[in-house]
Amino acid sequence: MKEVRAKKFLGQHFLTDEDIALKIVDSLQNRSKVLEIGAGMGVLTKYLINRVDDFKVVEIDSESVEYLNANFRQLEGKIIEGDFLNISLNDLFCGDNFSLIGNFPYNISNLILFKVFENKFMIDEVVGMFQKEVADRIVAKQGSKTYGILSVLLSAFYDREYLFTVSNQVFNPPPKVQSAVIRLKRNNISDLGVSESDFVRVVKTSFNQRRKMLRQSLKPLQMSLEKVEQKYLTLRPEQMSKDDFIILTKEIYDV
Ligand code: SAH
Repeated sequence: MKEVRAKKFLGQHFLTDEDIALKIVDSLQNRSKVLEIGAGMGVLTKYLINRVDDFKVVEIDSESVEYLNANFRQLEGKIIEGDFLNISLNDLFCGDNFSLIGNFPYNISNLILFKVFENKFMIDEVVGMFQKEVADRIVAKQGSKTYGILSVLLSAFYDREYLFTVSNQVFNPPPKVQSAVIRLKRNNISDLGVSESDFVRVVKTSFNQRRKMLRQSLKPLQMSLEKVEQKYLTLRPEQMSKDDFIILTKEIYDV
């Protein structure tokens, strides 16, 4: 069976280091139901098949799907040919929660993470390889330069952990930049105490002008600044913890 030729527009960079593949798979703690995004030529898949009770794959590239079907008989009926961003996750494991794993296509990393956020009540854990810069942003702590919208939103529902850095030399073709593997584990929060869409709006609006103080950046929300504690108005968004954003949301929307 011929190998799959890497397609740049699909973010295909195939991992060639078996030790790293195994290390990624071993980083996944909850293995009862697992969805792998973008299996490619199956470097992670072949370890996952034997370690996961209920395993599925979503892969957009028909050539990869053909390769996987030909090389992994056990995957019969478990490969969804399609775009992770468009599939419905509700029926995937008969409504049960699951974990996500993958060497994710870098061109859609942010969209994958927003989908994780939207489906947080179903996704218990994520172990994923990202472009290092994106990984840094996801795990960034309050006060750091890379702290941004996804750091805040994900930290509200997940414990975030930077696991290890991966050299660009262990991919075919090598990407321009380094990669990193991170883990997200669902915390026990089910309700923020504010409307989630209000919270997301406040976080996004604040970071839209990340160098400005909140007094300025919150203007598009057209609320009265009197409602907001003075101390917040002179802060920049990266100085705000997710709990600060929750309080701010309460103040703005009078909850
Ligand atoms: N897991 C493999 C491949 C990683 S490359 C490895 O580590 O070698 C990223 C993979 O994601 C490719 O196989 C690509 O075809 C697939 N992919 C890209 N966009 C996708 C999408 N929207 N939905 C599902 N898979 C996608």
